[in-house]
Amino acid sequence: MSTSIDNARVIVAISFDFEAEEDAEYLTADTPDFWDYHERQYGGRRGVWRMLDIFSRYEVNATFFICAALLKSYPRACREIEKGPYEIAAHTIHHEHLDRLTPEAENEMFGHMQRMFGEFYGTAPVGFRTCFPSKHTLDFVADHGFYYDTTTRDDESPYRMHRPGRGSYIEIPRGFNGDAPWVGCPVATPLHTGRYNAAAEVFGAWRDEFDWLYREGEREQKLLTLCLHPYITGRPSRAKAIDNLLAHMAGHDGVYYATHLEVAQYFDRRSGTPAEAR
Ligand SMILES: [Zn+2]
Repeated sequence: MSTSIDNARVIVAISFDFEAEEDAEYLTADTPDFWDYHERQYGGRRGVWRMLDIFSRYEVNATFFICAALLKSYPRACREIEKGPYEIAAHTIHHEHLDRLTPEAENEMFGHMQRMFGEFYGTAPVGFRTCFPSKHTLDFVADHGFYYDTTTRDDESPYRMHRPGRGSYIEIPRGFNGDAPWVGCPVATPLHTGRYNAAAEVFGAWRDEFDWLYREGEREQKLLTLCLHPYITGRPSRAKAIDNLLAHMAGHDGVYYATHLEVAQYFDRRSGTPAEAR
């Protein structure tokens, strides 16, 4: 029997935050950090292409959360992503720290972002993620009619997020570590020391996470989410870690690769809890 999302033991939803230098530009507007800026550019110039190559070899579906500004700075890569079996989702415009914006400016950002995607792809994304949410962000996700969001880290399974007076959508909590151990991302975990981690070490952590969920998946279907960045995992030595993980998972029956949209639709179908009227 071939594996479908219904009979999968582990559903694997891999995502890329394609933000390239947008994060660096914002953070360093007054005091530009030359090395950080160019390190991040690597993701748009080279890393994203390497990831696309690896993912097409393993025929893996994935979701690309793209900063809308990259539609202008890396249009060729954004068009290439569109050709694959990939889902395109929204990751703000300039990787804004939404917690530093006024609610009006944040609301405006959401509208402008969706228009930019609509102009480039002909349709606006239905999924959203930010790395720097404000206390209003999840309300704006509902206001702007997103079908799902994947900003939080508070569970392993999707759930319906109700925003009183605004409506609801599906929340797909994202995986804990992703490729952050390599760069010391500002996420609370002892792994984020900023020290160099060999590909084998990070692969080991990813493999352990998969193996554990695969074990539990015998009793109850599990979802593995893994959030990666082309400027981090796109480096050759690190690409080996994701290649190793994909090869490891290929040796297991019952693994199904899904985009985040597929995961949200599957949850909707299974839970039978329709969205509140918007
Ligand atoms: Zn991000």
